[in-house]
Amino acid sequence: MSTEHYMIAQDFLIRYGGDNFGNLFSKAKGTLVWDDQGRQILDFTSGQMCATIGHNHPSIVKAVEEAGEKAYHFFSGMIPEVVSELAETLAKDWMPEPLRRSLLVTTGSESNEAALRIAKMYTDGFEIIAVGGSWHGVTGGASASSYASDRRGYGIPVAGVFAIPEPNSYRPYIPGSNEEESAMACLDLGFKMFDMQSSGKPAAIIIEPIISAGGVLVPPKCFMEGLRKAADERNMLLIFDEAQTAFGRIGYKTGAEFHGVTPDIMSVSKTIGGGLPLAGVITTNKIEEKVHEKGFTYYTSHVSDPLPAYVGLAVLKAINEESLIERARTMGQYLLKKLINLQQKYEAIGDIRGEGLLLGVELVKDRENREPFHQLGKITTEHCFKNGLSMNIRRRKERGSVWRIAPPLTVSYDEIDQAIDILDLSLRESLDEITRLKV
Ligand code: PMP
Repeated sequence: MSTEHYMIAQDFLIRYGGDNFGNLFSKAKGTLVWDDQGRQILDFTSGQMCATIGHNHPSIVKAVEEAGEKAYHFFSGMIPEVVSELAETLAKDWMPEPLRRSLLVTTGSESNEAALRIAKMYTDGFEIIAVGGSWHGVTGGASASSYASDRRGYGIPVAGVFAIPEPNSYRPYIPGSNEEESAMACLDLGFKMFDMQSSGKPAAIIIEPIISAGGVLVPPKCFMEGLRKAADERNMLLIFDEAQTAFGRIGYKTGAEFHGVTPDIMSVSKTIGGGLPLAGVITTNKIEEKVHEKGFTYYTSHVSDPLPAYVGLAVLKAINEESLIERARTMGQYLLKKLINLQQKYEAIGDIRGEGLLLGVELVKDRENREPFHQLGKITTEHCFKNGLSMNIRRRKERGSVWRIAPPLTVSYDEIDQAIDILDLSLRESLDEITRLKV
C-alpha cells in the first residue's frame, strides 16, 4: 500500500527541492509525526518551522471547526469580524509601538512581497538592501532579496536589490577584535558599497532578526541599531522579516523586542499560523495612511480570509495561556546545555548558536580550521531520521553545514532527552561509516 502510494507520488508530483524522504507521511500531533509505515518520528523542525504550539494543537482543531460553523472565506472586500479581532490583538498585545495596522495574507513570501510594495510606494523608491544568507521567499520581490536560495535559472530578478555582508561571528568576512567590531565593519562596508551604487531611489532594508536559512546567525544588537540608523539617514524603511522569530520561538514576543530595535514594517508568517497558511504585515498609522492615499492595492483571493484568522487568534491565545514564550527560554536553555555536552564529546561540533528554541549547530572537520563537514551533516541527518528524529540541515558550500533545531515550544524534557540520545547515536554511527568509507 505505502510503496504503491510512494510510486504514485513519484509519478504525479513535481519535485520542488529540499530533502527527499523515502516515505510518505500521514499524521502529526504535538512534537511527533508519523510516516506511512506507522513509524513515529520526533519533529525537531516544527514542520516547516510553523507548528510552534505543536502539531494539531486542540485549540487549532477547535478554531478550524469554529470557522467551519461561521465562514472559511468571503469576497476579499468583505472584512470578517475575526480579522478585525486578530488585527487588534496583534497591535495591542504583540507589536512594539508604533506598529499598529495589519494586512493579513497567506504565506511568508507574500507578506514580504506586501512589505516591499508598501515600502516602495511610501518612499517613491525601489532600491532594496538585503543581507547575505537571507531567505525571504520565492515570489518575485522576495526571491530577488534572498541570498540563501538558488537564484540561478529563473530569469532576470527584480532590479535594484543590493546585498550587504551579513554578520557571522563564526565565519566573519571581516575579522575584528570581537563580534561587534566585525559586524559593524560589515555594515560600514555594505553601506559604502550601496551608496556608491545607488541611483538615488532607496526604499527599504529587509532583514530577519535571526538569519535562519543563512545558518542561524544572530546579529549583534549594534548591527540592528546600525541598520535602523542607516535606514533613517537614507529615508528608507526598515523591514523585519519575522517569519521564524515572532510569537515566542526565540523566547521573546518578537525579534524586534529581542534586539530592542523597532522596524517600520514587520512581516510575520510561519509562527502565527501554527501550520495553516496565515501571514501578515504590520506597519504604522503614518505609513498606512500615506500608501492608502497613493492607492495601495494588495488584493488577492485569500487576503483577510476568516479561516486562518480564527487559527491565528487561537495560536496567539495558546502561546499566552501556556506561557510558551517563557517555555521557549527554559527549554531552549535545557536543549543548549545538552548540545554543549555533546560538543564536548564530538570534535565535529564546531559551534552552537541561536536564541530560545531556534538553535544552530555547525559541523566542522576540525575546530582549528573550521572546514565545513558536509558529508557528516548529510549522513547524520539520514541516520537521525532512521533512528526517529527529523532535523533540517543547511548545506551550502560557502556557508558551512548547519543543523537548524527548532522543536515546537511545547516540547517536553523527555522528548529533548530522546532527541539528544538519537543525535548522539547517529553521530557515532555516521562517523564510523565515514571512517569505513575511507578505508
Ligand atoms: N522569510 C523567512 C525568514 C523564511 O524562513 C521563509 C520560509 N522559509 C519565508 C520568508 C517564506 O515563507 P513562505 O515559504 O511561507 O512563503
